[in-house]
Formats: sequence, C-alpha cells, structure tokens
Amino acid sequence: MYRVRIDSMRRRGLLIALSGIDGSGKTTQIKLLQNQLKQNGTRTLKMWSRWRPLLSLPLLRVLRRTRQVRVHHADFLTIVEFHNPKNESIASLWCFTTQLENFLKTSLKLVFPLLLGRAVICDRYVLDLLVDGISDLHDPTTRMRLGFKLLQLLPRPDQAFLIDIDAETAFWRKPDLPSVSHNRERIRVYLELCRKVGVKVVDGRRSADVIHRDIWTLVSSIIPPR
Ligand code: ADP
Repeated sequence: MYRVRIDSMRRRGLLIALSGIDGSGKTTQIKLLQNQLKQNGTRTLKMWSRWRPLLSLPLLRVLRRTRQVRVHHADFLTIVEFHNPKNESIASLWCFTTQLENFLKTSLKLVFPLLLGRAVICDRYVLDLLVDGISDLHDPTTRMRLGFKLLQLLPRPDQAFLIDIDAETAFWRKPDLPSVSHNRERIRVYLELCRKVGVKVVDGRRSADVIHRDIWTLVSSIIPPR
C-alpha cells in the first residue's frame, strides 16, 4: 500500500491524518493539535474528506432503480450499501467512479497547501475512504479493486493515527451510521487495514487531553526546526 505516490514533487509541508469512525474524537483531537501547532509557530490547514456523489450520480440512479443498493442519508454523508451477493462488474465500476472522485477532490485540495509549506491535518483520509468503500461493498480487506488502488497514489501522510473506540460509545456520541453494527463492521475493517498500512492506533477511550499528549509526542518529533 501507498507505494507509488504523487508526492514525488517533494512537498515542503506536513501531512497528518486522523482516522476513525464518526464519534471517535477526530475533530476534538484536530482542534487540540491545531492549537498546539499554532503555539509552535506552524501554520495549519484542516481538510475534511468524505465522499459525496457527483460524477457517480447517474450510476447511483441506475443502482437505485435496479434495487442493487440501499442508500442511507445522514447530516453530511450518504452511504450507498450494496446488497450481497452483488453484481461484481457493477461493483467494480461503482468503486472506480467513486474513488476517482475521491482521488481528484483530495489531490486538488492537498497539492497547493503542501507546496506552500502548510501543515495539513486531515479529518479522515485514505484509510477512511478505503474503510467506507470496502464496508459498503461488503468486500474482504484482501480484495483491492482498481478504484481502491487509485487512492494509494495520494501523498503518504508523515504521521497517521487511528482513534480506536468501541462501536457503542461512538454511536452514542454520533449516531451518523444506520446502526451500531455498521460501526462494528467498520472498526473491524479499520483495524485489519491499519496492520497493513502502518497507521498508529491510539486508544480513544481515554480523556481527550491524554490522547492529545500521545498524538503530540509523535507529531512534535517530525516538525522541522524553525
Ligand atoms: P468525530 O470528529 O470523530 O466524529 P468528535 O471529535 O466530533 O468526533 O467527538 C464526538 C463527541 O465526543 C463530541 O461531543 C466530543 O466532545 C466527544 N468526545 C471527543 N473525544 C472525547 C473523549 N476522549 N472523551 C469523551 N468525549 C469525547
């Protein structure tokens, strides 16, 4: 994973990614991290990446009409969940279209701030896009469709964290997904992928300040001297 990337341009900025299910505490940690970096004299920018249908809208209409998917809407997100068993060619086409959207949006948002030397903090990044895509298709984590491979071309984070928390606590804090079992399934996929991509797993069951201290210890070690 993350082998061939578009960061051959040798960016000057920093890329930090915080991942986890909704309600795990990403926004809270990003606020704390931004304050700490500001005190350190580092200019930061927060980037949020979550898929929303655009190029894929016509295909989504066909999928809905032919009853191949179930669509859930919450505040800021749309979940398109395939029924199982699924039509494999349609699933691959859907995966490619949606991940192409994600790839284009994310790279456009990232390139300039990184070239300008900003510390970009991502609220969700490649890991989260993979988890959502894999979970909604009900794929095994060993299956890397072409669409998912495209995401691996995005710049590799200098530091990446997964805030790990129980499905129930996260659901109680933010019931954005349709059920606790959706949270549970995503957590399983997060942990499986984390092992493969080398993302640092942080215990999100502790107080916000304690979690922040862990994150700051690692982030402060990669900030270039002023
Ligand atoms: P996310 O961005 O991952 O969806 P948030 O940071 O918005 O999560 O946190 C969701 C809710 O949980 C907020 O009300 C926040 O105050 C609370 N929260 C965040 N981190 C903690 C923590 N470590 N302990 C207790 N509550 C927390």
